[in-house]
Amino acid sequence: MLATYHTHSSFCDGAMMPEDYVQAAIRKGFSAIGFTSHAPFFFDTGWTMKSEKLSEYIGTIKELKEKYKNRIQIYTGLETDFYPDSRDFRDYPGIDYTIGSVHFIYDEKNDRYLTVDGPPDEFRELLGSVFGGNARALVETYYNQLVEMIRTQPPDIAGHLDVIKKNNAGNEYFDETEIWYRNKVEEVLCIIREKNITVEINTGGISRGYTAEMYPSEWILKLIREMDIPVVLNSDAHHPDWIDSYYSEALKILKRLGFSHQRVLYNGRWQNVLL
Ligand SMILES: [Zn+2]
Ligand SMILES: [Zn+2]
Repeated sequence: MLATYHTHSSFCDGAMMPEDYVQAAIRKGFSAIGFTSHAPFFFDTGWTMKSEKLSEYIGTIKELKEKYKNRIQIYTGLETDFYPDSRDFRDYPGIDYTIGSVHFIYDEKNDRYLTVDGPPDEFRELLGSVFGGNARALVETYYNQLVEMIRTQPPDIAGHLDVIKKNNAGNEYFDETEIWYRNKVEEVLCIIREKNITVEINTGGISRGYTAEMYPSEWILKLIREMDIPVVLNSDAHHPDWIDSYYSEALKILKRLGFSHQRVLYNGRWQNVLL
């Protein structure tokens, strides 16, 4: 079944209006599409949805659900951010599901939030300012924040699990094969399994040329398969043309690794369907 539950429109940092993505999804034979604007942040980041847009966002997608109900299923989600004292949007009226992601680490010394998946100089700034250049400490802080999110505000889907590798091309800061890194990822997967969270296979990084592999990396996907953790294939599209970017390659990889099903929101409930 073709679907994506991770879509950014012009309500946040995406390129077009939600209807443009719905029409692209219908053209490409999708059965379902879910929208996940970046949930409002307490200051204007330039890429998260403004608070005052939230009800218009929910209303717009509600109208599209009705308008296209005989052609495609449409769901209203949010990509929520988790950081100390972040707002919980999981029960917000009109929201069908959430993707929980970690983008920010708080720089206490300078009272600011820096992104782990932003431009390379922001990553370097974060590494230097908060961690004194210790990349392992940065990576572990990222994963600890993810664990904290899954423990305290478990979302439906864990977003781009290893997005911390985005600024690590050529192993500039750390090496995923190191034992401490593997142990940390395994710790995250154990709590994900315990809480019965779905992990997304996110093609957004690779389709936009940031990473050589999807999120998560193939060795993590193998562990996910072994641990029988549910997955969902998502494109994290910021433009309607990209809603199935890298899907055929991703499907080949998933099938080679032994995945036969994905967990999707369909007919109003989460269920396992054939890939
Ligand atoms: Zn994200
Ligand atoms: Zn996203």
